[in-house]
Amino acid sequence: MDKLRIGNRDLIKDINRALVIEYIRVNGPISRTDVSKKVKLSLSTVSNIVDDLISNNLVYEVGTTTSTGGRRPILLELNQNFGYTVGIKIEEKQVIIALTNLKSTILLKKHFAFLRGSEPEIAMNLIHHGIKDVITEYGIANEDILGIGIASSGLVSGKDGKIVRSTLLNWENVNVCEQLKKYYQVPIFIDNDVNAYTLAEFWLGIGRTHKNFICLSVGAGIGTGIVINNQLYYGEHGGAGEFGHIIVNIDGYQCHCGQQGCLEMYASEPYLNIEGIYLKPHYPDTVLDDDYSFPRVHDAAAKGDELAIELLKRIGKNIGVGMVSAINSFNPSMVVLVGEGMIAKDYFLPYALKMANQNFFSNANCKTKISLSELGNDAWVQGAALLAINQLFQVPLYEQSELLIK
Ligand SMILES: [Zn+2]
Repeated sequence: MDKLRIGNRDLIKDINRALVIEYIRVNGPISRTDVSKKVKLSLSTVSNIVDDLISNNLVYEVGTTTSTGGRRPILLELNQNFGYTVGIKIEEKQVIIALTNLKSTILLKKHFAFLRGSEPEIAMNLIHHGIKDVITEYGIANEDILGIGIASSGLVSGKDGKIVRSTLLNWENVNVCEQLKKYYQVPIFIDNDVNAYTLAEFWLGIGRTHKNFICLSVGAGIGTGIVINNQLYYGEHGGAGEFGHIIVNIDGYQCHCGQQGCLEMYASEPYLNIEGIYLKPHYPDTVLDDDYSFPRVHDAAAKGDELAIELLKRIGKNIGVGMVSAINSFNPSMVVLVGEGMIAKDYFLPYALKMANQNFFSNANCKTKISLSELGNDAWVQGAALLAINQLFQVPLYEQSELLIK
């Protein structure tokens, strides 16, 4: 277990400084007086810390606010351009690498393709060179990077910095962070991709006003990110949220995870494929051939293809079944739907909502909001960058930890 630092003057100083920076980061523009009231430190302590932060270019003054009388207080904001972070998403056939500022705004983003089923070494090599490429193109140096965050599908151990198992990538035990640390001597973090998206939703999206919510991603598979009391919930091995693998049919389709009858086989692309092939003989006029991806099926449905419309209706009900289980398990205030499958939402959402709105809590007159993410695809890499950004501002309570931004 990580050992706590001993409570001496240095620790107290570090904690106070971290509290002030974090409060300004999250709530700025804000006055010294308001920071002092909210973090419960004296105005003189806050002013000393702020003076130091301003002289180090980490915080700056952004003008004044209206006042009810007397001098108008000067407002403070975090210098979002103090340094940069890199957010990376590892996908089945490409890595996406984005350079961001400290507010996770994307400054430059590039895609690097590799062949499906490639060995991890190939992707790791692309990541190593891709980061260099992005940094060079933006015209900054390695030293300007304060942290790197990586998002990947599958079971990811943030603590060990590795991908434990990704069936989509067909990788096992890949020490991503350790390998990258050879080239970049900055804090490097890794998490499951849906967790990274959920983090983006929590900081930048409609999750900002919710303490307990779930992001449910629909696409090649099904995944969830679970926020409980303003914190992502990880479980013992970092794998909480593998909601695609709850069993919905005990004698159902064989899943790639080894189980039988998983939700993923009924509410994501494999279902469109299996059910499409099965139903096709009944729809001789269909334009669908061997591509049953969400974009393809959506295109066909938009042209009035009856098989495509029927497939999306059926998958809608199944997605609704998954939502009901998620709602009943965690009693969130909101479920946010995300992922590439949402392209076909017009065709499946009414059926999903009909199913999901009838849950244990609705029967007790307790509402669960169901929303569509407004963030878009950039949120995956922004969430990855936030993995690093959030850690940069953590209070350094443990012996191994230190203030990452000085
Ligand atoms: Zn499964």
